[in-house]
Amino acid sequence: MANEENFMRVPAPTPKRTVYTEAMEIFHRAADLIGLDKRVRLELEEPDYEHIFYVTAKLKDRLVPLTPEQARDFSDLQPTQVRNPEGLERLADGKIILNGRALLGSDVSIRRGHLRLPDGHVYQLVPGESQRFKAYRVQHNQARGPYKGGIRYHREVSLDLFKALAAEMTWKTAISEVPFGGGKGGIQIDPRAYGREELENITLRFMYKLKSMIGPNIDIPAPDVGTNGDIMALMYRQYSDGERDRHGMRGIVTGKDVRIGGSEGRAAATGQGVAFCIEDYYAEKGENLRGKSFILQGFGNVGSHGAAILQRMGARLLAVNDADGTIYNGDGIDVTALLAHVNDPKNLRRSVLGFAGAQKIDKKDFWEVQADICLPAALGGEITADVAERLKVKLVAEGANGPTTPEADRVLQKRGIDMIPDIIANAGGVTVSYYEWIQNKRMERWSEPEVNQRLEHAMKRNYRIIRDISRNQSRRSDTHDSRPFCIGKEVDPRCAAMILALKRIEAHYLLEGFSQ
Ligand code: NAD
Repeated sequence: MANEENFMRVPAPTPKRTVYTEAMEIFHRAADLIGLDKRVRLELEEPDYEHIFYVTAKLKDRLVPLTPEQARDFSDLQPTQVRNPEGLERLADGKIILNGRALLGSDVSIRRGHLRLPDGHVYQLVPGESQRFKAYRVQHNQARGPYKGGIRYHREVSLDLFKALAAEMTWKTAISEVPFGGGKGGIQIDPRAYGREELENITLRFMYKLKSMIGPNIDIPAPDVGTNGDIMALMYRQYSDGERDRHGMRGIVTGKDVRIGGSEGRAAATGQGVAFCIEDYYAEKGENLRGKSFILQGFGNVGSHGAAILQRMGARLLAVNDADGTIYNGDGIDVTALLAHVNDPKNLRRSVLGFAGAQKIDKKDFWEVQADICLPAALGGEITADVAERLKVKLVAEGANGPTTPEADRVLQKRGIDMIPDIIANAGGVTVSYYEWIQNKRMERWSEPEVNQRLEHAMKRNYRIIRDISRNQSRRSDTHDSRPFCIGKEVDPRCAAMILALKRIEAHYLLEGFSQ
């Protein structure tokens, strides 16, 4: 007996805190509040499948620049006259890939594996070797339809992160009422450190390995950080090449170029969706975006399109932070001119830094710029409790996935800063991905106004339901019906969004039952 008592007093081990457990805190809170069916909860608590696999590729020869100090040993090295300069591909990190026969026929002066290019710099010639990359695909849940979610190419990815992002997709597809589940994956790689052809080979090999796990009715990837329509085109080709039903396989990936079966409006869809939510947030207060100001983190797909659309609606961009630094202009940054700067082929890092229409500031000052809206559109975990204490905005609209930590969420609530949570704010991308998938299935092509009209309707309808759940305002209007989702008490918007997702997913399980 004494032994049993001792045994019972042993405290349960605290589960290790990870990105996934942190992301799931809100799931558990919402599940408790609505009394989510126990078995459905178990189905959703962990992903259906977690794939880790490896991709190998043969790299090309590279020229690696020496530091001025190292170059001193080669001060008398004559410059090589390059015959085929188009074969030299300069990377963001200063290294140069030798494509094809870049140096063929050139008058090469080489000493101890080093050569000088006409730009005056000395480079070490590093022969290309084979390299192995770690790749992932997490398939979180498919109760409502095929797994759906982006492919990320980034140095800092992990199974833990992809689990969190895949679960987010399950919630997001339910919120936006598209018949998909959730998945996510990618490769641990810094894409800016590899040449075009290398990335092509890595992507083709990645799809070669992924092929047995996915399909247009099984799991449908899309672009995410570090990938784009070009990568999707390669994935589509590799998946369908040589197949009899090749054209019936277009829906294997979304986010494709419109010329090969992509949807009008897809490239801008995530930014457009965030803008529709922000517009609706102000419309409810009887206001619009004219004269409103915003700060933006991330000037990639989501950030640049979001900023351009908000600017067209009358808002002013005051500061932008990206992976390389921060720029600020109190009179407003011209988004069109900034896009031209970032897309300039000479801007190898595609960074906002060096933009003539703004001054450089420190990242810590970025978070303290006074504005109406903060639009995070980069990576997760950027708005920490400390940042949340310092923000001088009235609204955070999450373009990125998981940009706000749970502690920061509590700080923002305490400070009365409003929140449009990621699983509704950035759902525009997956919503138009669904439109792309339907168009592929039906061999149709919808116009951009048609796509945007459908998107606006979907975003605003679901955002209004979430607002009603949050305020416990059960009602039916011309545009939406929140009566099946309100829970009899007020909750914060993130929890409200999760309640909407869980109630929709639970309905599938309860109506369909479980296969045994
Ligand atoms: P992207 O690769 O096109 O752009 C990423 C941007 O973030 C770049 O400007 C980069 O410089 C910046 N960045 C990277 N690391 C940073 C850091 N440490 N600090 C500051 N800035 C940093 O990516 P994207 O597709 O625009 O995705 C951005 C976010 O939006 C991600 O969280 C992604 O998961 C989410 N999202 C994307 C889509 C989509 O359709 N692309 C849809 C939903 C959600």
